[in-house]
Amino acid sequence: MCGIIGYNGSNDPKEILIDGLKRLEYRGYDSAGIAIQDSHKVDVFRSKGRIQSLENKLVGKHFKGSLGIGHTRWATHGAPNEINAHPHRVGSITLVHNGIIENYLELREDLKSKKRVITSDTDSELIAHLFDIELHKGLSLVQAVGKVIPQLTGSYAFVVMSDREPELLLGVRKGLLYWSG
Ligand code: GLU
Repeated sequence: MCGIIGYNGSNDPKEILIDGLKRLEYRGYDSAGIAIQDSHKVDVFRSKGRIQSLENKLVGKHFKGSLGIGHTRWATHGAPNEINAHPHRVGSITLVHNGIIENYLELREDLKSKKRVITSDTDSELIAHLFDIELHKGLSLVQAVGKVIPQLTGSYAFVVMSDREPELLLGVRKGLLYWSG
């Protein structure tokens, strides 16, 4: 179980994301992270431990971006450390995930056979790879959802964004799709 949050609006997302994560901290608190996107780049900050330690990393930082995602983790796949903390970044994709991908081993082997470089032990990073593959084929983020979901077994809710569509935030819960942008 974890907490995930997405923000698409006109204010600096930092405070909004941190405030949201603090409210969700009861759901998971072994690590936390946020990603903020503006039209040029994505900044990702992750930290082992509670939200406070993430907040310490962000002291004095201000962001122009208006799109952001955040996550407070309760690990199911991989140790509670910074590398396994969300958001996960693969190519142009940034993603936070709640849940368990049950076909994790099968997906991981398949991605490795496609020469994908997997940097964490999480099931969540694999979802980001699946999106990245579809975007490389020329699909949009919304189109990619239709290709990625059928490959996932298990329970999931995730929020995903792509540098290629810097105004779009996509939320997916098993069986449901939300977007803002
Ligand atoms: N399965 C994911 C992980 O281990 C998400 C866990 C969660 O829901 O906090 O990173």
